[in-house]
Amino acid sequence: MLSEQLDKKCICQETQRHFLNRAFDRLKLKEAQRELLLSSFRETQVTVPVTLRHNGENRLHTFQGYRVQHNHARGPFKGGLRFHPDVNMGEIQALAQLMTWKTALVDIPFGGAKGGIAVDPAQLNETELEELSRRFCQKMTPIIGVHDDIPAPDIGTNPQVMAWMLDEYSKSRGYRTAIVTGKPMEMGGCAGRLEATGYGVAHLTHKAAAEMSLTPEQSRVVVQGFGNVGSHTAIALAHKGYRIIALSDVNGGVVNEAGISIDHALAHIGESGTLTGLPGTSPISNADLLELSCEILVPAALEATINCDNADAIQAKLVVEAANMPVTHRADNQLQQRGVVVVPDLLANVGGVLASYYEWVQNLQQFPWDRETVLSRLESRLSRTYDAVAILANERQVDMRCAAYELAIRRVDQAVQLRGF
Ligand code: NAD
Repeated sequence: MLSEQLDKKCICQETQRHFLNRAFDRLKLKEAQRELLLSSFRETQVTVPVTLRHNGENRLHTFQGYRVQHNHARGPFKGGLRFHPDVNMGEIQALAQLMTWKTALVDIPFGGAKGGIAVDPAQLNETELEELSRRFCQKMTPIIGVHDDIPAPDIGTNPQVMAWMLDEYSKSRGYRTAIVTGKPMEMGGCAGRLEATGYGVAHLTHKAAAEMSLTPEQSRVVVQGFGNVGSHTAIALAHKGYRIIALSDVNGGVVNEAGISIDHALAHIGESGTLTGLPGTSPISNADLLELSCEILVPAALEATINCDNADAIQAKLVVEAANMPVTHRADNQLQQRGVVVVPDLLANVGGVLASYYEWVQNLQQFPWDRETVLSRLESRLSRTYDAVAILANERQVDMRCAAYELAIRRVDQAVQLRGF
């Protein structure tokens, strides 16, 4: 077996490039078309200075911030902001591209972008985090806009960060609620947005499981990552009757073959800040958790968690990519060879950007919808998207990732041609 270099700086780009080239070949795109679809419209790197309190003294520290605007043929750039120590330009480029394919796949009038700052937000106090968010927004103001580029939360950011950015942007451009999505409800946020990604992951997991004749009662589920996406996926799957046997966060995992109460897990996290020590469970490492005997595995943490070193040890029959790029392309190949069904990220977690689109629409119309309306529109749009992918996969006798990329790239390419980019 080829040994995979797990340097995240290149693994995301390599994985993305592989999946894209496969789709480009199937679509018989010419070299120039490929170049155009692969290249970013604009890549911005900024230095963000923040005064940090260290050992009782104030010290100026600089962080590197990024915004990659990949493609806007189908509408304004759209994509999250990530605050994480591993953030780098390569990772942000790959994630920005992924947003272009996602918005096209789910057929909403947006392009793709992504941004972030190389920082561990847990090391900052609230004042420092606010200063970092506002300073970053000041530097981004010339290139973002309600009809140009609309940021949203991602790993390490949250509605409060969006509120600071909205306020900062408004100081120079006037009050514009639609400049960011994933805002607090009090500032024009969307009912159901917080749980939308996980809710969508659970909806699509349920659809994929049903096609494989896996009933909720028969299916043991493992979820890696218990943040926004992982926790809401677990909540929605438990609600549908699935047995969640293992969960994890950055500190490690917990397992109980008889099933874990998600309410207890949430309460424990609320008290202690981690899943570790959850009563009634045994500890397990994040690596061992992925290899547990189960029917459904939901990686909902970081990229490249399933790679060629552990792919053959995965026992799940269905892998649902709640995180972005959690399976490397070599691992994907290994899983396919063993008949493991993979619901790819660009389909599985698209509920987040769909709800972001609903938030933007409500802000522009100044007319909020209730949670039921948001989630029922989300479900029906996700079902339509899933069915379109499944039909194409069946027609072409390819896997769902192949079909999803083909559908999305065809749409972006058509818009690029029509606009004459
Ligand atoms: P989050 O920060 O809320 O949660 C991340 C979780 O992963 C936390 O439980 C954290 O403890 C855990 N984690 C971090 N490092 C880990 C490691 N090395 N091993 C195991 N667990 C680890 O982030 P999120 O918003 O839930 O995003 C998770 C993934 O989903 C990311 O890939 C993100 O890009 C993707 N995603 C998020 C959204 C969204 O709406 N939030 C939408 C689409 C895709």
